[in-house]
Amino acid sequence: RFITVEGSEGVGKTSNIEFICHWLQSRGMEVVRTREPGGTPRAEAIRKLLLDPGHDEPLDDDAELLLVFAARAQHLATKIRPALARGAWVICDRFTDATYAYQGGGRGIAASRIASLERFVQRELTPDLTLLLDMPVVDAQQRLQSRLEGAGGHRDRFERERLAFFESVRRTYLERATAEPERFVVIDAGRSLDEVQAMIAEALDDRISP
Ligand code: C5P
Ligand code: MG
Repeated sequence: RFITVEGSEGVGKTSNIEFICHWLQSRGMEVVRTREPGGTPRAEAIRKLLLDPGHDEPLDDDAELLLVFAARAQHLATKIRPALARGAWVICDRFTDATYAYQGGGRGIAASRIASLERFVQRELTPDLTLLLDMPVVDAQQRLQSRLEGAGGHRDRFERERLAFFESVRRTYLERATAEPERFVVIDAGRSLDEVQAMIAEALDDRISP
């Protein structure tokens, strides 16, 4: 089985993925925890290329999209498909919904172009369950802010553009969840960690029969 966890920065993906892995392991499942972009040495090298700000040359939006899918092809071939084939549970921090949200909603690439790459790279493979950790953008940004206290600096116009970008990311995630209710569970990530984990456990109980 293939479970993906989605949401923008600051919603608590990391600690909740930890929880999901323990939940499944305590029920005897073999769990492979991984992430995108990345998950294998070559795919992580592509992640570095994607996220490294240390270039004068801006990264073209289409080049970014193709790199995300190049990393995904490598990840699927060398890690995800083999794990699923031997019956392991794969828990992936972000997957193709993030591409629709960030490169689509955020950067403005048409969903139809993303969909054609999705078919090309994944063929029939889609997640069995996607947990979307959702909370208002300003709250998530506040959490990030307190995590990276002092890292501030840029404000004003840059800050407003950032917020618009993340509003668009959030909206795209929520639209996708509405369009595919049988695959998605939307979790209110603004609640306390205990409450969020109780909601996740309920979702796993409901949607998954180990
Ligand atoms: O999941 P994580 O927060 O580690 O992602 C690292 C960065 O990669 C984030 O800043 C996210 O905005 C970015 N990202 C992206 N496009 C994707 C997936 C992640 O821009 N498809
Ligand atoms: Mg994280």
